[in-house]
Amino acid sequence: MDQATFFELWCPLLTNTFSDLQIKRFTMKILFYSLLLSMFLMTVNCFAQAGADINLKRSIALIDSAFQKEDIEGFNKIVPLKGMQEFYAYAVNKKLKKASGASKIIRLDKDSAWVFLSGMAFYGNSGDETSLADYYTGIYKFQRTGLLWEVKDRLNIDRLNQIKKHKLGLDVLPGKEIKVKDTLSIDVNDFFGFALKLNHKAKLEKLLLNNAKTDFTFGGGLLWVNTRLKKKQQLIIHYTIEVESDEKDKNSAYFSQAYGHMRNQYFWHPFFSFSSANDRADFNLYCTIPKSCHLATSLPQRESLIGDVRIIEAKSEHPTFGLSVYYDRDWEVSTFKKDQIDFVLYATKDFLPEKKALYAEFSKNYDTLEKHFGKPLGSYFGIVQDRSNGDGWKNRSNSVVVAGEKGSSLIRDKPTPRATFGHEIAHGWTSPVGPATNFLMEGWATYAESLLLSSVYGDSIVHTFFQSQKQNYLNGKFNGNKSLWEDYSNSGVSYSKGSWVFYMLEHQLGKKNMSALMANFIRSGDQSVQSFIRQSSRVSGKNMEPFLFSWLKSKEIPVLAIQQSAKQLKISQQNDIFVFPLEFKLKLKDGAYLNKVVNINSKEQLLNITEGEIESYSVDPENKVLFTLK
Ligand SMILES: [Zn+2]
Repeated sequence: MDQATFFELWCPLLTNTFSDLQIKRFTMKILFYSLLLSMFLMTVNCFAQAGADINLKRSIALIDSAFQKEDIEGFNKIVPLKGMQEFYAYAVNKKLKKASGASKIIRLDKDSAWVFLSGMAFYGNSGDETSLADYYTGIYKFQRTGLLWEVKDRLNIDRLNQIKKHKLGLDVLPGKEIKVKDTLSIDVNDFFGFALKLNHKAKLEKLLLNNAKTDFTFGGGLLWVNTRLKKKQQLIIHYTIEVESDEKDKNSAYFSQAYGHMRNQYFWHPFFSFSSANDRADFNLYCTIPKSCHLATSLPQRESLIGDVRIIEAKSEHPTFGLSVYYDRDWEVSTFKKDQIDFVLYATKDFLPEKKALYAEFSKNYDTLEKHFGKPLGSYFGIVQDRSNGDGWKNRSNSVVVAGEKGSSLIRDKPTPRATFGHEIAHGWTSPVGPATNFLMEGWATYAESLLLSSVYGDSIVHTFFQSQKQNYLNGKFNGNKSLWEDYSNSGVSYSKGSWVFYMLEHQLGKKNMSALMANFIRSGDQSVQSFIRQSSRVSGKNMEPFLFSWLKSKEIPVLAIQQSAKQLKISQQNDIFVFPLEFKLKLKDGAYLNKVVNINSKEQLLNITEGEIESYSVDPENKVLFTLK
């Protein structure tokens, strides 16, 4: 019984039965005893809390010590969560060195608690380690049964909180380290406070919340900060990271005297995740590097010199996340202008393709895409040379494309058609968030390749291109494993199956409507998959959700079985049910040909023929659908 209910029980009795004086005396007594009782209850409660606290701490210590051992069965007995088990089994099987890290009880109720747990497996670059540790380090819900506390569930750190702005100060010391001062504007809407991912090697020097010190815990690549629920708070974090110079492991980050880089996956600045809708923020970046080096951020930038220091100021044009930084002693910086776009090349003199050819190709691709879909989102397109690891077009990061020591072919028809460079340019048209992010990014850019290829080699190449994408899908072993909806890690499925979904949509809407859909979607300012579905339905005049949901959410592609009888085709879907139109070309026994369309939407459907008897048929004669036949 707490104090409130104690008074509620006694008060009606007091007012009904006694005189004023009696009431006063009695009330005093009651107050006195209730005070005693509440002190007693508080003490009992404190003991209970302390007991719960000790038992919970014991459970956490048990998990931490199991983590350090090499006993998968033992670990799984005390940690029932699949994600944690998978991480542990992976580390044990790969014989990686492990260490449990900081932990913290964030909230303790009677039968449940929220706990920060961390653990690391060490195997190389700290960025990759941070990325892997994400499978283990997190904020977990514990539940109490008797004296035992068990970990039950994991909380998504970004489910309610938001990062709105980064004001980043970055000092780059080539071959050595970075010093970072990040001032974040954040909205805290979740009870647990605020948590962010950051490279686990970061040495924190200062952390202020609204200019005051606050409680925080940092371990396993996750930083938790004690904050109250409030929008528009300011979080200041100062730290240094000694950046690796490992000649054998240069992908995530590599610093030498001559050149170096940190990709976004190095987690050199804090954010939530690669597909969170809630950490797309405005960035203002102020970088310094010795004058002897050039530096390229992945954002539109300008530079100046003060003494021996080169200053680069960069600013995002629309909310984005996960910045990358590259520097090089031997670069030249060349700028060209195309419409509103600054086309800037950061590369050594001997970079190939030669800069004028690159610009010409950019210009041509830009014109083709602009004709179909209107202007891109930004006004900057950078090409940044990364001399650390081979040739080719490597990746796109915010507003730049990263090339190897040399770029590679810009567009080709053989052995398999690809418009690799154009693919990167096409990324400038979308900046999606949330589920199916990579479908709207990689699926889109791969689909755009088909348009660029046909503008150079003619329409017939489109068929070959999509057949090769089908082959990529089948060879990639995505079937049964990955859906476009949940491809948060960019497994590869979004390129092949994703581009096919765009291609099928183009057949259903027609080319003109497809362009309208993309142009509307790009201009809408809402690049979520829901917005994409809305725009598709709008231009097609019918509800496109059944089609898109079935293709985006399934981990498969349709497997069809077709049975022929004299006047009928029976079409059945063997596994997941998909929605799509399927064309047939039928040859009748009298020699006539018929074209039919079946709107596939269930397990089994019939195509009845009244015009004669079927001699033979061809399903999807123009290869407009991605499926396999049983
Ligand atoms: Zn891409």
